[in-house]
Amino acid sequence: MRLVYIAVIASLAFGEDPQPPVVAPGTNGGAPSDAVVLFDGTSTAKWVRENGSPTGCTAEKGVMNCATGAGDAWTAEKFGSAQIHLEFFIPSMPGKEGQMKGNSGVYLQGRYEVQILDSYKNPTYASGSLGALYGQYAPLANAARPPEQWQTYDIIFHAPKCDAGGGITGPATLTVLLNGVLVQDHVAVKERKDACQPGPLMLQDHSGFPRAPHTVMKFRNIWLRRL
Ligand code: MG
Repeated sequence: MRLVYIAVIASLAFGEDPQPPVVAPGTNGGAPSDAVVLFDGTSTAKWVRENGSPTGCTAEKGVMNCATGAGDAWTAEKFGSAQIHLEFFIPSMPGKEGQMKGNSGVYLQGRYEVQILDSYKNPTYASGSLGALYGQYAPLANAARPPEQWQTYDIIFHAPKCDAGGGITGPATLTVLLNGVLVQDHVAVKERKDACQPGPLMLQDHSGFPRAPHTVMKFRNIWLRRL
């Protein structure tokens, strides 16, 4: 009786909220029912080179392999605010260190790099380590797994607020969980050029950097939900 009384008081106080949309969650890192699936384990068709030609990454046994020289992998589709999930597998690279060890990255809207690097017992400058918003924010924790283990990024990206003329009125914000650990907590992103335009997701091929070693990065379960 008392619970009914509380429910009546609550509904009078707060009104009736509309029911939320039903979203069937994924399993084992798979996409929820309302996600844009960017890599489902079988096809790289959603990915292109910067010039629009087919990506140099290849799909095999549920994994997208991106070797140095494949070129940066861009989604053909462009996005604004989004929840992004991806899993990555960094090869073991004994004898390499710092930025030369397992370097890739997830670029939001092709502009802002959430760093991928083998940061397991591999110190480098903090704003260039795994979980960093490269060059802007060091991660709150080093939650790196050793190489040759699957790791996860879950990212909440809010595009900047813009006026009708394309001027920025509020910064983009970024929250990142690395392997389930909060590493970026709603940080304000320093904008880049054309920040008010939607942009693709991009996976970095680090081979353009001087002395970058041969690296094969693996990815799986890449999806996003538009927010
Ligand atoms: Mg990188």
